[in-house]
Amino acid sequence: MPPETSGQMVACWARIRGRLRDEVGEVEYRTWLRQMTLAGIDGEEAVILLPTRFLRDWVNSHYGDRLRALWQGEDASIRRVEIRVAQAASAEPVLADGEAAPARAEPAGLAESLAPSRPAELRAPEPRSDWVVPLEARFTFDTFVVGKPNEFAHACARRVAERPASPGFNPLFLYGGVGLGKTHLMHAIAWAIREGETARTVAYMSAEKFMYRFIAALRSQSTMEFKETLRAVDVLMIDDLQFLIGKDNTQEEFFHTFNALVDQGKQIVVSSDKPPSDLAGIEDRLRTRLGCGMVADLHATTYELRLSILQAKAAAAQVLVPAKVMELLATKITTNVRELEGALNRLVAHANLFGRPITIDSAHEVLHDVLRAHEKRVSIEEIQRKVAEHYNLRLTDMVSARRARNVARPRQVAMYLAKHLTQRSLPEIGRRFGNRDHTTVMHAVSRVSELIAQDAGFAEDVALLRKMLET
Ligand code: ADP
Ligand code: MG
Repeated sequence: MPPETSGQMVACWARIRGRLRDEVGEVEYRTWLRQMTLAGIDGEEAVILLPTRFLRDWVNSHYGDRLRALWQGEDASIRRVEIRVAQAASAEPVLADGEAAPARAEPAGLAESLAPSRPAELRAPEPRSDWVVPLEARFTFDTFVVGKPNEFAHACARRVAERPASPGFNPLFLYGGVGLGKTHLMHAIAWAIREGETARTVAYMSAEKFMYRFIAALRSQSTMEFKETLRAVDVLMIDDLQFLIGKDNTQEEFFHTFNALVDQGKQIVVSSDKPPSDLAGIEDRLRTRLGCGMVADLHATTYELRLSILQAKAAAAQVLVPAKVMELLATKITTNVRELEGALNRLVAHANLFGRPITIDSAHEVLHDVLRAHEKRVSIEEIQRKVAEHYNLRLTDMVSARRARNVARPRQVAMYLAKHLTQRSLPEIGRRFGNRDHTTVMHAVSRVSELIAQDAGFAEDVALLRKMLET
């Protein structure tokens, strides 16, 4: 007997959904629960449908009890809630159900979509209106620290979030080195648009995922659905576009999607590690189109920005980090914000674990390896050049066979510094000093150490050289 529905039940169901939405919050609701429909009441059982097996299992295990309690609150005669997979309305295969689930579900969803034959129940209709996107909760505009190097990119991102598809800002092309905030800004745009007044649909994915979805669609002969789904969104965001370099078919597909969306007045946001003009291996016509909206770069961070980021993160984590420690991190870890964050997190974790405050000493101790890895790399050539300069010699004297004391001693100093300031092995250092034996280098190192201990003037000289090379 098919489950029954009535006007009253529909009203109960609407209230239950509303309650759940209030309880779990909008994001979680949209991710997991939005697609629930009520099939009806079958005796003591409320039957709820979801489009995929994955969603059914998830909702069952995470919200099953709550759903039952809410139903009982509405109608005490209902004792069970049964969640089923809706039978597909059309026989046409469409995109994998992984699309409807957030990041954690990705591997399963992808594997299923790549499998040659999928169970019929996975071929549920794709939600037309919304691709549920796994967005990182931390990556919002509120948590993005603005400074000189990123203020332009930030302003462009804000602008696109406020008014998608405004002339001059479509596409928005964000580029910059690793860990400078591209993904953070993209997620921030997506959050802002999703939370905005107008109901706009946003699809965010990495270029890599775009490719896998495209390949999956090809395999399951559902490229039409792939195209339609993508072309139905209001905002398409593709992260790390450089991944498409050399992937001609995927590029072609992206190009068509891109054109279709822009023609319909939809917004495109793309990120990459290089500007459009440097994307060798991306077709010219695509490169041209990518560059014709707004191109904004995230520059390498400055000391001031790194310091502000650390302050913001420490405040958010509600931990006391001495100014000296932040200065140390901001000075030493200069390449990328992700590493900077990682270092801070380590300090905080360490302090929590041992119940001790963060101090400059503990920072040195805990971050020993990180700080070392970020020490300025000095090359052997640089050492040879500086030492030669200092002792008024020619650079060639560093590698020559001359043994005169005025040449041999500085050469030994240079070897000593090479041993201490680089990661090179003794044989390698020997090779770079005119093909000398490693025992010669060893001798130089111990001779210079002895002299440093005996002769204050000499020690000062070496210390000065060392300082010049290190800073
Ligand atoms: P990218 O995508 O450019 O490689 P991400 O956006 O993943 O870099 O950023 C790396 C990490 O650094 C993230 O945790 C991000 O939150 C953080 N981050 C980068 N720039 C900023 C910033 N200006 N303010 C706050 N956090 C930042
Ligand atoms: Mg990124």
